Amino acid sequence: MASNPHAPEPKTKHSAIGKVLDAVLTFGAEDLNQKQIADCAGVVEGNVTRAKKAVGNFGPLLSSGPVRFTSEMGLVLAVSVGAERIRAGLVDANGSLHCRTTTPPLRGQLALSQRELLQHVARLAAEVLEKALGDATLVRADGTLPVFAAAMALPTPIDRDHRQVNGALSHKSWEDRSPYPTLNHAFAAILGPAFTSETAQVMNDCNAASIALAFDRVRTVEKPRRTLAPVSFRQRSTIMVVRVGGAVGCGIIEVAADQDEIYVSRFLKSRVMVGTHALAGEIGHMPISESAVELLNEKSSDVPGLSPIRYDAKCACGRLNHLQALIGGAALARRLGVATHTSEAPITVQLEGFLRPGSTTTDKAAARALDDAGQLLGKALVGPVLALDLKAISVIGALARPALVQGLGGARDDWGKAFYTGAGVELVDPGPDSAWMIPRGAGLALMRQHRHRKLRQIGNGQLAMLLPSLDVSLPYVQQMRAKAWS
Ligand SMILES: [Zn+2]
Repeated sequence: MASNPHAPEPKTKHSAIGKVLDAVLTFGAEDLNQKQIADCAGVVEGNVTRAKKAVGNFGPLLSSGPVRFTSEMGLVLAVSVGAERIRAGLVDANGSLHCRTTTPPLRGQLALSQRELLQHVARLAAEVLEKALGDATLVRADGTLPVFAAAMALPTPIDRDHRQVNGALSHKSWEDRSPYPTLNHAFAAILGPAFTSETAQVMNDCNAASIALAFDRVRTVEKPRRTLAPVSFRQRSTIMVVRVGGAVGCGIIEVAADQDEIYVSRFLKSRVMVGTHALAGEIGHMPISESAVELLNEKSSDVPGLSPIRYDAKCACGRLNHLQALIGGAALARRLGVATHTSEAPITVQLEGFLRPGSTTTDKAAARALDDAGQLLGKALVGPVLALDLKAISVIGALARPALVQGLGGARDDWGKAFYTGAGVELVDPGPDSAWMIPRGAGLALMRQHRHRKLRQIGNGQLAMLLPSLDVSLPYVQQMRAKAWS
């Protein structure tokens, strides 16, 4: 990116239509009608009607009924790569994820070459775009999709030069600087000539999830305030999303305080905390004390069908005693006697039967293993909780089952005692949609950068500086698909 994302936006006059658009972002989850949106924006209702008309070469930006953004505001193709699956969809300006599609689980996909893995990504992306081209709510009258960018979340640290740093993608091709100098270039290349390293962006998966967490928090958890009464003012707060699956990591985001105008969303100034080298959140590689593991092993020694946690298990990074090696998918499989080394089947599939809550012996062993994992995670989080003074934590990922969250909840006593002030940390259930939080957040990151933060300019009709729609058509998608299969 040539531009500095932290540079202050040039002062732009906030027109009545710009205020309406900002109000739709802020109150979009509240199902408000035209009159209510106008009241929130502090403008007369006619401005909402005006915002529903075409602006420049954009079609109508707002829908009737509960006022929301139409797909004319733009769509982001969003992809997330996990240990065994790839998920993809299209994110709209309301933060909704359309045309959700997944690949069947593929064991060891993170060991594939860059070319092979990105071909899987391109095939899935083509599938999503083809679905969307048949969706009347997304496609334009001319048969194209108003996609303006693509985002891909990877389960690996991504530095500020858009490259992987000693990460989970283990094939040596991921370290090559040719033919593609950055992962953005590689991602753009597989999506075809409409995309560039600016419009195709690669990011860390937990950072992406933290963006979705903040978006939902300011719209549905801490609902936007309708008056400027000082009592309703929310200070800034820091929240964390922890992913527990094949690997373990976290994303941290500082949610902005309420703004001076009620119609300006706190989402705009919320900030992902990426750290000095953009490597924040790598908690999976935190060394865990042997005594903590021994204590859990003693307590669960009489649970039928459950092996002890192997303290000397090797982490994906090659070291011993790391959190990820003690609580991640491979550790869980080993404790439950799932012979992942003798079967070629994806670990996700082999573990699936154990992860459904039930009452058989194996279910009980699995529940106990997940509870133990939650307790170890809780211990590991004491440091981050104290260092960051967190307001809330959400756990997502394949192993984020109720038993694990329960174990984490128990371990929360450690934080409570550590906080001599008595300040508590909420454990927020991210809900049934949590599997899609990463692609949604990845798409929202670019939606925020290129649309949500530009609503003033759009309201003023200053469209020249916006990333334009790439007008994705069926022939384009067919070409993309053909290339991905070659
Ligand atoms: Zn490690």
